[in-house]
Amino acid sequence: MTDQQTIFDGMLKLHLSEDTQREIDELVKFLTPEAKPIRTEVRHVSLIHQQVLKPFRKELKALHKAGDLPDAPEVLLTEEAFKVVREDRTSWILPLAYTSGRAMSKFVKDFMASMGVEDFTNERVFHVTIANLTGSRKDSVGDVCEADVFQCGYCGSTGGLVSDGDWPRCIDCGGV
Ligand SMILES: [Zn+2]
Repeated sequence: MTDQQTIFDGMLKLHLSEDTQREIDELVKFLTPEAKPIRTEVRHVSLIHQQVLKPFRKELKALHKAGDLPDAPEVLLTEEAFKVVREDRTSWILPLAYTSGRAMSKFVKDFMASMGVEDFTNERVFHVTIANLTGSRKDSVGDVCEADVFQCGYCGSTGGLVSDGDWPRCIDCGGV
């Protein structure tokens, strides 16, 4: 039984618990055939970009090695995959559920404060990428932000979204 774990490998990220991995395995089965699943071992949640953490690299490496990185809040995922398209890349992601995402934002903010960076903000939507067009992690859409996810893929509206493993679509236009 593996638990969720905070790790540093240049980025700050989370290894997923076995329970979460099992839930994802179930959801992956319902993706469109075009979506090629990312291998279980490399599925993760990215928390903070490596560019941001560059000045703290040494310190964080040491904390990681000592197993002293702080525990993040539990990852709870939405049960609907969102398709995210940027240029020639397409990913299918599971965002963190609302309260879990909020808790994660606070964790990241507090973590950066502990590094001496006050009022850290970013537009990241915390998520697990579960598939892309090739199944290779390097072909995923990076740094998914709110504008990528929480708007209708057809008309751009941000209200009343539903998703069924394809573009999120709104009630108004119905995705046509
Ligand atoms: Zn729409």
